[in-house]
Amino acid sequence: MEIDTAALKGKGFFQQIQKDKFSLRLCTSGGTTSTGYLKKAIEIADIYGKGQIHFTTRQQIEIPYITAENVDAVQKLLSDANIRSSTVGPRVRTVSACLGAAVCKFGQIETGELANEIHDKYSGRELPAKLKIAITGCKNNCAKVEANDIGIRGTSHGYMMYFGGCFGHEIRVGKPFLPVLKEKDTVLKVIEYTVNFFVSNAAKGERLGKLIDRIGIDVFKKAIEFAV
Ligand code: SF4
Repeated sequence: MEIDTAALKGKGFFQQIQKDKFSLRLCTSGGTTSTGYLKKAIEIADIYGKGQIHFTTRQQIEIPYITAENVDAVQKLLSDANIRSSTVGPRVRTVSACLGAAVCKFGQIETGELANEIHDKYSGRELPAKLKIAITGCKNNCAKVEANDIGIRGTSHGYMMYFGGCFGHEIRVGKPFLPVLKEKDTVLKVIEYTVNFFVSNAAKGERLGKLIDRIGIDVFKKAIEFAV
């Protein structure tokens, strides 16, 4: 049977080194999910996988060892439980976050709701290249925000944003180009300006950091400063 691996990838199923097996990546925006969600993931892993669950470095859940014949049955289970597979490819990726001020005693900003708000608005948006966003509640930086295209860190005065980071075969440290932002709405507006700027200016496969290097920091700063 011929397997359309690209189509399966679009549904969150990645081909493994064992070419007849696929690993399913589930969406866990903000890194927090319900026990019901986990029970469903366990059910899928037990019935259609090998009883294994993997947690990615960006807080996503992966269920390996699913065969192509079982993809439809797994998708039905996901859809019945209202669980989405994770975004892949040149799109806004699932937002990762630490526990933040709702739970952590060091937290200076709320992180989970902000992650979900960003995720609901942008996740899956088609882009010239992938765009990763992370949120961390304080200077301890548990979510490692400078390793993301857009990072948000809580401070005692509000939100510090970082731009242009990535941590893969190329490593770049995201940089702050704006003063600390006091309001969450301003952060959301800056994200909107950044995403629009990225869509309008990036070449295919060009990450935000490379785009900023190519066109110049001042041009990028000017584009996002309008949001502040
Ligand atoms: S970054 Fe700060 S707020 Fe977030 S989990 Fe770590 S210590 Fe807590």
